[in-house]
Amino acid sequence: MPYAYVCPVCGITSRPYLTHLGAERHGWRHRGFAHWGDYPDGEHVRRVSWIGPQRRDAAVVTAVVAGLLIAAFLSRWR
Ligand SMILES: [Zn+2]
Repeated sequence: MPYAYVCPVCGITSRPYLTHLGAERHGWRHRGFAHWGDYPDGEHVRRVSWIGPQRRDAAVVTAVVAGLLIAAFLSRWR
């Protein structure tokens, strides 16, 4: 399961990284860019799913469309 850097001050979660160190490095860059090198309160690295919110929505839409297509296909063969 991958890791992501979380900055609660900015309300962001990084893209998933294969390693804890990858997510930490994202945090270092974010800290330097967005916080002038200061440590935002509550920042951390946590385990996340490979499927982000956007991909999860796309997967649900794809499943619904596939279900409708299968139902339409089966109704024509009766
Ligand atoms: Zn931040």
